[in-house]
Amino acid sequence: MRKKEQIKGLTLPELQGLFVTNGHEKFRATQVFNWMYNHKVLSFTDMNNISKDLRATLDEQYSLITLEKVKEQSSLQNGTKKFLFKTQDGFVIESVIIPDNDRTTLCLSTQVGCPLDCKFCATGVMGYKKNLTAGEIFDQYLLAGVNYERPISNVVYMGMGEPLLNYEATVRSLSIFGEELTKGISLKKITVSTAGIAHKIKELADTGLKCKLAFSLHSCFEDTRSLIMPINKKYSLKENVKELRYFAQKTDTRITFEYVMLQGINDRKEDVQAIIKLCRSMPSKVNIIPFNSLAHMNPTGLSAELVPTSKKKIDEFADELRNANLTVMLRDTKGEDIAAACGQLAITGTEV
Ligand code: SAH
Repeated sequence: MRKKEQIKGLTLPELQGLFVTNGHEKFRATQVFNWMYNHKVLSFTDMNNISKDLRATLDEQYSLITLEKVKEQSSLQNGTKKFLFKTQDGFVIESVIIPDNDRTTLCLSTQVGCPLDCKFCATGVMGYKKNLTAGEIFDQYLLAGVNYERPISNVVYMGMGEPLLNYEATVRSLSIFGEELTKGISLKKITVSTAGIAHKIKELADTGLKCKLAFSLHSCFEDTRSLIMPINKKYSLKENVKELRYFAQKTDTRITFEYVMLQGINDRKEDVQAIIKLCRSMPSKVNIIPFNSLAHMNPTGLSAELVPTSKKKIDEFADELRNANLTVMLRDTKGEDIAAACGQLAITGTEV
């Protein structure tokens, strides 16, 4: 039997093109798009405004299954829920839903593992396995939301992987969110987080997709940043800053600088001053993140030596930034008990 063509992950124009090429009427693509992405159906059988014969034909030709939910785990702390999904080729990925007052944020993955090897991040310790397809990225949103108490209001591309190293699939998934026909979430509620692949930041700005961008800053000093984020040796902070400014201007949004607090490494007086200088150079805000332990990964080298900055010191650090009129958010640690907090996502082989 011929292998079915995967259509989950196609944008509306792509689906229309495919259908027309294969002899279906163009408006059928709109119907299928709607069923797949808005009604979240997992079978052509359920597409009941399409004739039975055509449903059977579509089912023979196309597949719309990409992920299978294999596990859900709820945090006892606050309603944070972690999902494990299995891809058709047998890889396991993680997504997390984080409720917070009026928001319900889904954190989704773009790669299985990550090639960047940031010293403070569990996903880095696990290494890189593969890029997710656009269908696998979008399906995390479709599947995680099912049966959750509240609708997902925001999406952050902050799970496993570096979105801008899986650029094509990331952009395609954003295009599906941004399509007029897609209900639920607009691009304004979506944030892509990057460790800094400078030229891809510019390319993303030029797509015209008006999502938000978060930049994992973690140090304003090139040498320190290179030490904890080896990717900085390839794409320096200086190069990234130029493109971040371009992104902010082009999309008319503020850049979020993410900053994981590491004792003695990036929590000194000179770090405060450098952040203030950087933030004044473009529309931006700072997201201060307490360092979440990597102990569950048994790390070695520098990763094993990293220590979180104390709560008191974090508060003082944030206050100093606020006193300089910066917008500062202090993220609390959510879902640490189920290893679902920032930078804790990694498949250790014992989950399923
Ligand atoms: N590769 C992308 C997206 C994944 S990381 C990026 O680097 O932005 C998402 C966020 O979690 C980043 O800001 C990252 O720096 C942060 N993070 C990673 N490890 C962490 C840890 N151990 N504790 C707290 N935050 C962490």
